[in-house]
Amino acid sequence: MRIDIITALPALLDSYFNESILKRARAKGLAEVHVHDLRAYSEDKHKRVDDYPFGGGAGMVMSIAPVHKAISHLQAERHYEEVIYMSPDGALLDQPMVNRMSTLGNLILLCGHYKGVDERVREHLITMEVSIGNYVLSGGELPAAVLSDALIRLVPGVLGDETSALSDSFQDGLVAPPAYTRPEVYGEWRVPEVLMSGHAAKIEEWRHQQSVQRTRQRRPELLDGMDQ
Ligand code: SAH
Repeated sequence: MRIDIITALPALLDSYFNESILKRARAKGLAEVHVHDLRAYSEDKHKRVDDYPFGGGAGMVMSIAPVHKAISHLQAERHYEEVIYMSPDGALLDQPMVNRMSTLGNLILLCGHYKGVDERVREHLITMEVSIGNYVLSGGELPAAVLSDALIRLVPGVLGDETSALSDSFQDGLVAPPAYTRPEVYGEWRVPEVLMSGHAAKIEEWRHQQSVQRTRQRRPELLDGMDQ
């Protein structure tokens, strides 16, 4: 998987992608993330990438020209399966959507700023719009990092334990069961007996029951239509 992120604030993303699990994925050659500075594509002498909104009103709008140049530059080098604009009114990101997208090859993610981008970018240059939730952030960088992280951790070989992504919340329509580690007794707080039993089938059954119970309490909507 290769992800190219276009942003007016590349420094915001560099540190994130140079640490964490994504660093390992990049080092192993399993995933590539390239961050591109939108200002490098500005023809303005002050390297501006935004302008006042036609019709007036508060806030600045990201201009179409630098965005168009950045996207065209990348598309001239390779084929991209999706050109994604991170937007609060885009398709809401959830695990099934991440799973579907994880099989894609090359992706461009465009981070907006200010009031967003000139609508013609969305009409003509973008193939998909993704929101990370019904709230508004000041820029698309965190959303792009969220989407990249969710996608890259599913690339085979990125997580140390191959099965661990499958046992995460939402993968089987349930939230994850509780997890414990040493010490077995901390003050008066004990680890559930069954986890110390060494009985694999019983542990599996307990975890499943916990998942179902927690899902019912915390995310009952996930159980709608499921035979539990
Ligand atoms: N005026 C716009 C908000 C712009 S916020 C509106 O009301 O819809 C500035 C930028 O932050 C957006 O262009 C987008 O790229 C990013 N952004 C903000 N919240 C987001 C969210 N929940 N999901 C994805 N991107 C978001």
